[in-house]
Amino acid sequence: MRSNLVAGNWKMCGDSASIEKLVAELRTSLPAEPGVDIAVFPPSVYLAQVLTGLSGSPVAVGNQNVCDQADDGAFTGEVSASMLADVGCRYVIVGHSERRALYGETSEQVAQKAKQALLRGLIPLVCVGETEIQRDEGATLEVISAQLKPIFSTLSVEQLQSTVVAYEPVWAIGTGKTASPAQAQEVHAFIRALFAKQSEQLAKGLRILYGGSVKAANAGELFAQADIDGGLVGGASLDAQEFSAICRAA
Ligand code: PGA
Repeated sequence: MRSNLVAGNWKMCGDSASIEKLVAELRTSLPAEPGVDIAVFPPSVYLAQVLTGLSGSPVAVGNQNVCDQADDGAFTGEVSASMLADVGCRYVIVGHSERRALYGETSEQVAQKAKQALLRGLIPLVCVGETEIQRDEGATLEVISAQLKPIFSTLSVEQLQSTVVAYEPVWAIGTGKTASPAQAQEVHAFIRALFAKQSEQLAKGLRILYGGSVKAANAGELFAQADIDGGLVGGASLDAQEFSAICRAA
């Protein structure tokens, strides 16, 4: 029914030489038919290099952000969904917690970004997640629900069908602290239930990725949970062997 997806978020890391090496290693370490969808998200200046380097491989490419406004025009510093589609991207990450926290992105903007992506045929990976304080206060589900609310009011059910959600508890990102499989499963099931209010069929097909210190050693037990359909991997995606092992665990 729903196929697993493993996404590698390279964040603002690498240079031409290290990315060339990583791409070459990914080509040799990943199986030709991995049985799982795989995508990598390089810094946008390296998209062309990575798209060329991975062409003909099972690995799709996406950007880490997209303009929420328009396809072109006076939006200095932005990259549009139509441009990403034009160069061959298949996915885009929207609402990563680093963008929400460091660049003040609101859930409304995140929903607009997802909409722009969908209008141009890209698959948005919508990131949601609570901070440690919010979890300690018992507000996790409330936070997730509020982050997704504009998604439901902005996107049609048809558009939601092409959307991927990534649950990334902020306290687990880049910290080496992973949510336990049970903690993650609880939130994933909650997210699926929110989508089920729009449409049962939509909820059944929805892919919900877990992110936050995923590595080869913990991927198997996380991906074995009923509502976890793969991962959004940061640090570990910069190591081709480790990333390939995570893909194999999916
Ligand atoms: P991490 O990052 O795997 O390094 O924790 C995940 C992410 O930010 O997408």
